Parts: sequence; structure tokens; C-alpha cells
Amino acid sequence: MLFYSTRNKENKKTVSQAIVQGLAEDGGLFVPEYFPQIDWKSLDKNLNYSQFASTILADYFVGDVLESQLANICQNAFNFPLPLVKLNDNTFIMELFQGPTLSFKDFGARFLAECMSRLSKDRKTIIIVATSGDTGSAVASAFHNKPNVNVIVMFPTGQISARQEQQITCWGDNILALSVNGTFDDCQKIVKQSFNEEWWKQQAHLSSANSINIARLLPQLTYYAYVSWQYYLEHGTDVGFVIPTGNVGNSTAAYWAKAMGFPIREICLATNANRVISDYIASGKFEPKSSIATIANAMDVGNPSNFERLLHLHGSEHGKFTQNVNSISVSDKIIRQTIQEVKQKHNYIVCPHTATGYYARQQLSDKPWIIAATAAPSKFETVIEPIINEKLTVAPQLAELLNKATHKVTVNPVMSEVQQAYANNNK
Ligand SMILES: *Cc1c(COP(=O)(O)O)cnc(C)c1O
Repeated sequence: MLFYSTRNKENKKTVSQAIVQGLAEDGGLFVPEYFPQIDWKSLDKNLNYSQFASTILADYFVGDVLESQLANICQNAFNFPLPLVKLNDNTFIMELFQGPTLSFKDFGARFLAECMSRLSKDRKTIIIVATSGDTGSAVASAFHNKPNVNVIVMFPTGQISARQEQQITCWGDNILALSVNGTFDDCQKIVKQSFNEEWWKQQAHLSSANSINIARLLPQLTYYAYVSWQYYLEHGTDVGFVIPTGNVGNSTAAYWAKAMGFPIREICLATNANRVISDYIASGKFEPKSSIATIANAMDVGNPSNFERLLHLHGSEHGKFTQNVNSISVSDKIIRQTIQEVKQKHNYIVCPHTATGYYARQQLSDKPWIIAATAAPSKFETVIEPIINEKLTVAPQLAELLNKATHKVTVNPVMSEVQQAYANNNK
């Protein structure tokens, strides 16, 4: 199996090459040559999550240097539970937030770190990553003290929650936290620019841990595959997914699981007030905008990177895209109302991102839907506590990080300042 760039079918790499490189030379994103068709009805029902994941990902690693280590990579990466909570007969919540930093980003970041540390044995790698809140902590936690890897996490100053910031800045050692005076899109732009800069090439091998990296997407498709499989085993029907969406990585992974034949009926993307996808569906024009700050901050993305992969999957035809992709944009006001409604109706607490998914689900058919719960509510206590009038319980893995001392450097969204901060940190 090889992977090629969305911008050039001839530019082919093995999975490890694509992981190490991050972004293709031509600026495109790596996608698999084809989607292996999994005969999921014949899978052993007793497989645990990591066994299931390594079974269905095996075809992507055939012939690659990591092939023989895939089972071990999955076992180390996916070492936390994945509960499915029933709200009513046709609405379920898939809790993707039980990992060490309490968001679904732990699945991708931990898998990537397992791959990258095996691929960096003989040379130093710098991982540069932009975060709208949760990627940064997941990547920092996954890579902390991994030998031969230095990580730079850039987050927009003042636009992430205090607890998200704490989870990014509490590491030190090989993790450099940069507070950037700008937006998430400014941070993301610097990541992309870095790949064209000689300066970085002279420091070490540069790679990215954003969802442009294929090693983030492959692990993410495993939970859609696993949960749809489990749902089928129990209910005998396929199921739809509603996915809170920002940079479109998580939802692209769901489409990939569907393309592999898993029993996924349809997929709906819930967004906050950043509505480029809804606008594309309505108009056929993809018009990136500056991101708008919302209370579902991890989804504050105006120019979603993985949109290119989603377009590629649907052959860039607007008609085919709109047949397969539905998107519902949700305002902050409705997010607040929804948090309250879910608490009252179901005695369940959703984070602001997951609230967009719940609201979107209410607009959809009465067929069964699973809402992806992307983060734990306790990361967003300043938003949620006043709405539900109740103190949130802090998950033990968060409590531990809240007690640690923090380190960060503040910079402007300018390449030279980022380089300077890195140089000072690695003297
Ligand atoms: C990152 C994130 C999202 C958005 O996921 P994308 O893959 O960027 O679309 C949604 N919710 C939470 C809590 C996140 O951390």
C-alpha cells in the first residue's frame, strides 16, 4: 500500500515516509491509494479494541518498516476505555475523551508518537504543531520524554481555556509551548511555512503532528469502524455519526471508515459559528475565512486543512459532495441552551463541542445516530458550570496536570520569532 498527495497522484510514499514527512512536498495531503475492504462480518467478536485496530489497519502498513510493530503500536496507544452511552433508543454518545488529556486527540497523538519515536531512532525530529486547544496537550503528553524528538506547540494567546493551556504548558523537557499573539489559523500558517524554510532543515528533521499527518487520521478511523461494528453486532443495523468538526480531521477519518465498508449509514458534520463547510454545501464555493472565536474553541477554524482530503474523496464534484456530506452550524447561544437541555433531559453533561453534535442530531432523522463526544466537560468548566449551576468533577488525569508548574514563551505570529524561541530553548 502506498499513499499519494491530494495534489499529485504520481507523488507516492510508504506510510512511514508519509508520517515522517507530514505534508507532501507539493503542499498536498497524503491519502491512501485505495481503501482496503474489510470483511467485518467475519471478524472475531472477541477482539479487544487495540487488536481490532491493528487488524483493520494492517493493509495500510503492508510492506512498511513499521508493519511488524503495528500490533504493539496499537496496544501502547489505545490503552484507555471507549464507552458508548445511550441517551435514548436512537441517540448514543461515543465518549472519545477517556485518554490522558481528555479529548479524542489522544487517539491520534498517541498513535503518532508511537510511530514517530520508532522512526526517529537514528536522527532527531522536530514536531511543530498548531493547536486550537486540544491537539497541543494530546501531542505534548504523547511525546513528553520520547527520545530524539523535540516538540513545539503553538496556541493562540487567550483563545483556549485555562485548563487547556495548563495541559499544554505543564511539561517542559522536550516540549516547548509557544503562546502566539494571533489566531489558530496564524499558527497553522506558520506550521505550513516551516516546511519550506531552510533554517528548520538545518536544525533537524521537521515534521508535523497536526491532522495533516496521516498517522493522526488512521487511528481515528478505528473508533468509527469499531463502534459501527459493535453497534451492528448488537442491533443488526447500520448507524449514522454526528461529528463536531473544525479542521475536518475527525470527520475525514469517519468517511474513510465508511469507505472501508463499515456499517456507517451517513455522517453529519456539526460546526460552531465557523461555517465554511455549510457555506460550501450551499454555494459550491469553498471560501476560507478568518476564524471566529466561539465557546467551542477547539473548532474555531476558518480554513480547515483536511477539507482538501474530503474534497479529494468525493472527486471534487459539488453534487457528489452534497449527497454525502451534511453540515449544521451552531451558534454560541444554541450551544449554551443545548448544554442545559442535555443536562435536564438526560442528566448528562456535554462539553461545548459535543453540544453542537447534540443540537445537530435533533435536526436529523429518527434513525439511530451516534454523537462523537470530542472532549470531557471538565476541560471547559468556566463555560459549563454557570450554565448548569453545578461544579464539575475533575477527572483524575486532569487533576494531576493541574498541579504542575508551567513554562511558555509568548511570540508574535512571525517565523523568525518562533525560530528564536526554539533556538533559545535548545541552546
Ligand atoms: C480538535 C477538536 C475538534 C475538531 O476536530 P477536527 O478533527 O479538527 O475537525 C472538536 N472538538 C474537540 C474537543 C477538539 O479538540
